[in-house]
Amino acid sequence: MSTSLSRKNAFYGHFINGQWISDQHTIAVMNKYNKEEIGRIGRASREIVSEAVTNALETFNTRKLDSNQRYEILMRAADIAKERKEELAMILVQEVGKVLKDARGEIDRGIQTMIASAEEAKRIAGTGVPLGQSGNDNKMAFTIRVPVGVIGAITPFNFPFNLTIHKVAPALAAGNTIVLKPAEMTPLIACKIAEIFSEAGLPAGFLNVVNGVGQETGQYLLEDERIAMFTFTGSPGVGRHIKSSTGIRKVTLELGNNSPNIIHKDVPDLDRAVELCVTRGYVNAGQACISVQRIYVHRDICDVFVEKAVMVAQRLKVGNPADPSTDIGPMISEKEARRAEEWIQEAGRLGAKVLYGGKRRESILEPTILIDVKPEMKVVCQEVFAPVISIIPFDSIEEAFCQANDTKFGLQVGLFTSDITLAMRATLELHFGGVIINDVSTYRADIMPYGGVKDSGIGKEGPHYAVQEMTDEKLVVINL
Ligand code: NAD
Repeated sequence: MSTSLSRKNAFYGHFINGQWISDQHTIAVMNKYNKEEIGRIGRASREIVSEAVTNALETFNTRKLDSNQRYEILMRAADIAKERKEELAMILVQEVGKVLKDARGEIDRGIQTMIASAEEAKRIAGTGVPLGQSGNDNKMAFTIRVPVGVIGAITPFNFPFNLTIHKVAPALAAGNTIVLKPAEMTPLIACKIAEIFSEAGLPAGFLNVVNGVGQETGQYLLEDERIAMFTFTGSPGVGRHIKSSTGIRKVTLELGNNSPNIIHKDVPDLDRAVELCVTRGYVNAGQACISVQRIYVHRDICDVFVEKAVMVAQRLKVGNPADPSTDIGPMISEKEARRAEEWIQEAGRLGAKVLYGGKRRESILEPTILIDVKPEMKVVCQEVFAPVISIIPFDSIEEAFCQANDTKFGLQVGLFTSDITLAMRATLELHFGGVIINDVSTYRADIMPYGGVKDSGIGKEGPHYAVQEMTDEKLVVINL
């Protein structure tokens, strides 16, 4: 049973075999700004998770959709999401606390991700294998790509529409079935995604949703050996747990970062660089895995950069995410805002200066600019995941590269320079999954290969790359 979000207390249990099933155990979903309850979800037991996996497996074994059917369903789902854009955006405003303009942007991106995945459904292909090189001219060989089976998808709270689509849409494009466990803080949009695909004509059993908390429902999923692959986006701690719990099964892990951005003295447009660094540091109240966190600025331009950065921060409106003019809304919880506030205070005790912001009101943390930080402070060496940026001067580009690389993470890095040779050098010397030249670490087009090195994860997303991850390459040899 499900009810529309427009009614108070929408309830979603679990979506199994094309039906919503209810659950006597429930979890409240809160509006992150006014703290009112906006709905409830079920809390799947081991039995419910098992039922969902049974269904996904039976569907995989008995029901196939050809590539054109998969394309059509994904394109129809994109059309339905387009028609419902405002309703979907309002769910993000409420359950994430995401400001309206960013919520609309996330829905648009998710729609593009669906369309790109639909296109991929028609392009899945293996490669020819030239066995003649080893003297086997009497044989022909090639590979084909086949779906892996049931995929367990576990998603985070911060971009719960687009990041869920980044898993569900390529998995369907590749011909798999899915059991999705959305983040319990922001599950309502994932339930809407299930409804959208159902309405788009996806037959029962292909997409199942089990709601619940990570350590229970998520854990039961990990322990179900019938799941062939896990695709996870979330924190490094949970990512490590998933890797160690899943044996030799396939996993892709999209984890955290503490993104560095380097502004060299030959920055082509300083005002643009400042604007991007500050606004992208505060995107989704800083709760983005590639949000700008550490800003290394050449000493010759650092004072001007700092002055301009404060001016940009002063301009930003903080408050109610439903107000179309708001730039920065609440964080996901007061606990998280308090944690970030404590990190700012710790930095202050160790010698950092709060140049702007730093104060908290319930779950709203003011956009904060720190200077005089040190590498060992949490705001620098850990993932801050809050609207907090640090500006750090450097004297030589070698020093900037060295500090940028001095992290256990490696998702994306930004570099601003007019020097093409330096830019090319950076692509080799900066140890990240993505090196973004003359834009910030936060840049992401959904089509591009996206994923980190080191503690930032394993494997790539982006529809084409996710389809590769979600298929097995099978060799075929023919004796002529
Ligand atoms: P989280 O790790 O707390 O939760 C993510 C998901 O894992 C949730 O659905 C949760 O219920 C589930 N989970 C928790 N414990 C589990 C367990 N024991 N077994 C199975 N599942 C479990 O992350 P979060 O707080 O929702 O998201 C923030 C983190 O996600 C940040 O570290 C951020 O950098 C990262 N992130 C990374 C990317 C990327 O693409 N690299 C994108 C967005 C967010």
